[in-house]
Amino acid sequence: MFSKILIANRGEIGVRVIKTCKRMGVKTAIVYSEADADSLAVEMADEAVFIGGAPASESYLVQDKIIDAVRKTGAEAVHPGFGFLSENPVFARRLEEEKITFIGPNPFAIESMGDKITSKEFAAKAGVSTVPGHMGLIEETEEAVRISGEIGYPVMIKASAGGGGKGIRVAYDDAEVREGFPAVKAEAKTAFGDDRVFIEKFILSPRHVEIQVLGDKHGNAIHLFERECSIQRRNQKVIEEAPSPLLDEETRMKMGAQAVALAKAVNYDSAGTVEFVASGVDKSFYFLEMNTRLQVEHPVTEMITGVDLVEQMLRVASGEKLAIAQDDLSINGWAVESRVYAEDPYRNFLPSIGRLKRYIPPVEGEATGAPGVVRVDSGVREGDEISMFYDPMISKLVTHGKTRDEAIDTQLAAMDRYHIEGIQDNMPFVTAVYEQERFRSGDITTAYIKDEFPDGFNGVEPTAEQTLILTASAAHVHGVYSARAALTSGRLSPPETVREDWVVILDKSHYPIKLRFAEGRSEIEIEGKVHVLETEWKPGTHLLEGTLDGKPFAVKFADRTEGYLFRHRGVALRALVCTPRSAELHAKLPEKEAADLSKLIMSPMPGLVVSMDVELGQEVKSGEAVCVVEAMKMQNIIRAEADGVVKAINVGAGDSVAADEIMVEFE
Ligand code: ADP
Ligand code: ADP
Ligand code: MG
Repeated sequence: MFSKILIANRGEIGVRVIKTCKRMGVKTAIVYSEADADSLAVEMADEAVFIGGAPASESYLVQDKIIDAVRKTGAEAVHPGFGFLSENPVFARRLEEEKITFIGPNPFAIESMGDKITSKEFAAKAGVSTVPGHMGLIEETEEAVRISGEIGYPVMIKASAGGGGKGIRVAYDDAEVREGFPAVKAEAKTAFGDDRVFIEKFILSPRHVEIQVLGDKHGNAIHLFERECSIQRRNQKVIEEAPSPLLDEETRMKMGAQAVALAKAVNYDSAGTVEFVASGVDKSFYFLEMNTRLQVEHPVTEMITGVDLVEQMLRVASGEKLAIAQDDLSINGWAVESRVYAEDPYRNFLPSIGRLKRYIPPVEGEATGAPGVVRVDSGVREGDEISMFYDPMISKLVTHGKTRDEAIDTQLAAMDRYHIEGIQDNMPFVTAVYEQERFRSGDITTAYIKDEFPDGFNGVEPTAEQTLILTASAAHVHGVYSARAALTSGRLSPPETVREDWVVILDKSHYPIKLRFAEGRSEIEIEGKVHVLETEWKPGTHLLEGTLDGKPFAVKFADRTEGYLFRHRGVALRALVCTPRSAELHAKLPEKEAADLSKLIMSPMPGLVVSMDVELGQEVKSGEAVCVVEAMKMQNIIRAEADGVVKAINVGAGDSVAADEIMVEFE
């Protein structure tokens, strides 16, 4: 085994690799850019080497700098993580020439699986079922139309070099091919510098099912079953699970055998993933592509098999024979992973970057309030910054249960106890998905989010049970504060001083209650029924965990100048607790008018202005693009929300902007 390796990555995956190395007694060195000098990964590694500026093109992608770092630290091998140089055959070959071990597959395997069309041809030769379509490149639009007709609509037009959901388009008729084919070609050219395009059949009710494979340098290869990653937003995976609710044992074994056959065909000698699209209609499945690296969602496989994939990568890279045989493996229970992203689900999932003012992840292991086990893979801690330079992922929340329901329930309980302040996260949205009957039933496709949230996400209405939890929590919190106020003002000692009659106002609904308060235990009478809330909550803590009528619950809590803010699942509510008299007055108050912001164009997030597309005095129609702001590798087109004439332009291309900065004003 190696005595020291270099990690050519950052963040969450850096930390992930270090954890396994520590357990195995392998020393770690990690590279870091200007933006990552104080990161958790750098702190945890035995050594760290500075390699340049924050943009990846100045640091994590510069091969010479990585190789220098290897020399400087005396590391024997490089783990590339995912992204960056992980699937770059030139880098793998350079390491080979320099006699440095690459903890990944051989360069030939990376190359053969490097683009979609080559790998599809390889797969077909290895006896793997591929999506029916045209096994070749297409040059002309009319040729594309003819081939599409032969394949039969709908078809998918794909860039061979595509990745990350870019360079893909579905067409339902000739006209859509005439429009889509040149568009994909152009997009492929700009995004990948490679305009090769092919066409295949679009599989109906498509589900994304992928097989984890593992090979060694001695010709052995096995698979570690499947993961289903159908819950995607704009082709970006959001929720992954293992096993797949779609597969039966027979389909699983067929898919696994095909993935192993493909791995063997390219002498695959590391951990890798063979992606398939499976039809929800008849469970037929077809090869999509192979990812020749550790996959972001690998933890769900680890949870159901008990195999540490990073450890296996190190072992096979060092020349060991695979110690696991196919028959040694079986599926234990169910695992689900949520990608917790720094984005604002209420504002069309715009990136939300900045400092983690508070960051309290749920407790790992067997958590309270849920039957399963919790694992959090993250590269951040309180006070850290989610920067605009890299992936907007905060963490991966992974749970394991005996059944799928248990794993999902554990996700919900863990998210209730996952506290993030300072930036927005996508947990309200993800929990809303987990609470949907359709998700529970396993009836999912890659179009799930588009189907279920056609107008985006606008929060969810609390259920009766959640309303009860929030009302009772607000009442108890108010009891705690009232008792304290009584103490500090020198009046009678609590709890006698806390009055009984209150009205809890949640949003605009009034709930008259009777509160019999005591430290740690309140009785709350709502609509004639008495509920008992028990909690050890103290002011200053941001998580209120306890039981209501004996049932465990947790809500996130924040003080506001007026009232309290509670968050629970997809619900965020302001609660006011007042005397019946002031509740009456409240009901009569005129509603505050929101300020008229329609004449201002504000930046929805901190970022960089890429282009300013309007001029002074220009007439702009509602919906027209005003400017483009780039944040976290994404270009966001900012559009006018109403017609208007441009009165002032406050920023230009190249300027940095803060969130809510006023960029353009209309007359
Ligand atoms: P897929 O397997 O469909 O390609 P993934 O989400 O696993 O989807 O990865 C998409 C691409 O983005 C891959 O090249 C991966 O290496 C990279 N990537 C995904 N998440 C991260 C991350 N958190 N940090 C760095 N790179 C990432
Ligand atoms: P990328 O490199 O961007 O990950 P993929 O080829 O893996 O590209 O496809 C991305 C997603 O598009 C897949 O997860 C799958 O859901 C869907 N997809 C790809 N090909 C087809 C197809 N022929 N029919 C239906 N859906 C498909
Ligand atoms: Mg893919």
